Amino acid sequence: MPSRVLAIDGPAGSGKSTTAAAVAEQLDLPHVESGALYRAITLAGLDAGVELGGQRLVALARSLPIRLDLTDAGFRPEIAGVDVSQEIRSARVTARVSEVSAMAEVREWVNEEVREAVARHPRGAVLDGRDIGTVVFPDAVLKIFLVADPVIRARRRLLQDGRVPDPDAVASEVEALERRDAYDSTREVAPLRRASDAVVLDTTDLSFEQQVRVIVDRARNLFP
Ligand code: C5P
Repeated sequence: MPSRVLAIDGPAGSGKSTTAAAVAEQLDLPHVESGALYRAITLAGLDAGVELGGQRLVALARSLPIRLDLTDAGFRPEIAGVDVSQEIRSARVTARVSEVSAMAEVREWVNEEVREAVARHPRGAVLDGRDIGTVVFPDAVLKIFLVADPVIRARRRLLQDGRVPDPDAVASEVEALERRDAYDSTREVAPLRRASDAVVLDTTDLSFEQQVRVIVDRARNLFP
């Protein structure tokens, strides 16, 4: 395993991916977003119309194939050579992804892909997900567990999607985030939980720049 592996985990809407991307850029390391693979395999399953079952989904993922392609802007999810970074964020994928990510075969496939992607980068990588610090890279040199108040997470998510965070929209987004967190935290395989050696970072009252700075400073202290 490369020496500079940073694991950023946390619940839905905690800002893991955007934070990990900014941290990776500042440390000049690639960013690997494991959620993108769970989303891509969900999208492929929905499009193929296959009944969502672990083995069939993994066979489909291998045959299409679904890959993380390294571009100048970082790893990009592809299905059969087509960039799906926008489509994997659609509501229909978000609604089904927790169900797919609870399947053991799917998790094994994602973990293999993620570990292979990192192995190609001996300098290291910044990864984000739910189980990076607990399962995928339990020896990561720095583990961060991002948390934030659900209302703040919902507001940030709505603004990020270009929507207006009025009270009704916030309430329904809070409900959707909490439903996904409950599903992710209670599944049998690799549930969402903080690694015992992870640093908890509550971003409720932090600006985006502040939260990135805290992580980058910690990383630079570990490997100047
Ligand atoms: O990070 P994002 O919200 O895009 O992830 C989508 C879904 O993928 C999560 O709700 C979770 O079910 C699953 N996931 C996971 N383990 C990871 C990353 C994502 O179970 N390491």
